[in-house]
Amino acid sequence: MTVPERTRADEIQAAAGAAARASASGSSAEAPRSVPVAEAGPPVMETGGVLTIDLAALVANWRDLARRVTPADCAAVVKADAYGCGLAEVAGALARAGCKTFFVAHLAEARTLRRAVPDAVIYVLNGIPPAGSAAFADARVRPVIGSMAELVEWDAFCRVNAWTGGAALHVDTGMNRLGLSLEDAAALAPRLDSPDHGIALIMSHLACADEPAHPLNERQIQAFREVRMLFRGVDASLANSSGLFLGPSTHCEVVRPGIALYGGNPIPGSENPMRPVVRLEARVVQVRKVRRGETVGYGAAWTAPRESRIAIAAVGYGDGFLRAGAALGQAQPVAVVVGKRCPIVGRISMDLLAIDVTALPEVSPRRGDWVTLLGEEFPVDAAAPFGGQISYEVLTSLGRRYHRSWRS
Ligand SMILES: *Cc1c(COP(=O)(O)O)cnc(C)c1O
Repeated sequence: MTVPERTRADEIQAAAGAAARASASGSSAEAPRSVPVAEAGPPVMETGGVLTIDLAALVANWRDLARRVTPADCAAVVKADAYGCGLAEVAGALARAGCKTFFVAHLAEARTLRRAVPDAVIYVLNGIPPAGSAAFADARVRPVIGSMAELVEWDAFCRVNAWTGGAALHVDTGMNRLGLSLEDAAALAPRLDSPDHGIALIMSHLACADEPAHPLNERQIQAFREVRMLFRGVDASLANSSGLFLGPSTHCEVVRPGIALYGGNPIPGSENPMRPVVRLEARVVQVRKVRRGETVGYGAAWTAPRESRIAIAAVGYGDGFLRAGAALGQAQPVAVVVGKRCPIVGRISMDLLAIDVTALPEVSPRRGDWVTLLGEEFPVDAAAPFGGQISYEVLTSLGRRYHRSWRS
């Protein structure tokens, strides 16, 4: 299947999302948005929030990254339900676009993924739990082996069962999280003399890739270069999203982007080269007047500085939305209402939040309208700091109560 490029008309339609959705409730005859390729969760009418995943943008992001690293292969990291964007839908779209290698964190994720992409190579980053080797072979997935204890178990399993499915060796180059020491890796290198050594990939992970000037980057790149010399002929992988923007010295044979696929900015401080993928809209339950000096919400944490119009929208921390910001009462997060950024005021409740829409014309928004909490107008990287979060947390916190719609 070829995924059509997003057109300008699509963009206009997306920007007019609230209006388009209002039309679905029968108020006008506007054109519907692009057709959903999959839907999940409760029907739109029965929920407070709608999450839309733009698979065309996701695929465009993957192609963009793949082009940047040619001739290296561009894999996809789809752990944590593809960063909250839906594992099966995301992996399916990427596989159809030509992605052949996927990384998840857990075996359970790998099993779900295997059903979506029957032919792809799947790596499990967190490695093998004790006595877990057989389950990996059973699911036809490759463990990323990060300790000698895992390697001993895996080798024994492969020997006894003549299993040749392969594994990745994770070598630690300075992150000190997972991975064999450089010494252990060096001691293993002679096994390459045997044709059935079973090492399909060597990999390491950068600790500071989102800070290009950090001296640890160069130290890790240099250390990994030495590992590659020991494991000549075996494919190697070092770069995550930010890592691959550090330049060709990180590309090796395979890159492993996650966040950039989902529209997160891989080069903080610079303009985001990726397209936004996630759109979150909340339904307006009611719009009310609040007199000057009155307060809104729990803890009376916000006081109206003037007579105000407050839109109450049906998404809250129970949907994973900006909990930390709500608790801290930090800098004001915003919602986009009819194209304008309006402040979210007071504490965020479990199922509701309040938006000061006083600056908008009296007619908008109205009960049943949709406001945008994440989207082209207000991307994940812009929203994250208000919740004391990073883009990764915004995405992986996306709640389970939304109506979900995947579009291409
Ligand atoms: C999560 C993860 C990635 C992807 O990182 P992004 O920053 O999201 O691109 C790559 N490699 C490893 C080992 C990871 O844990």
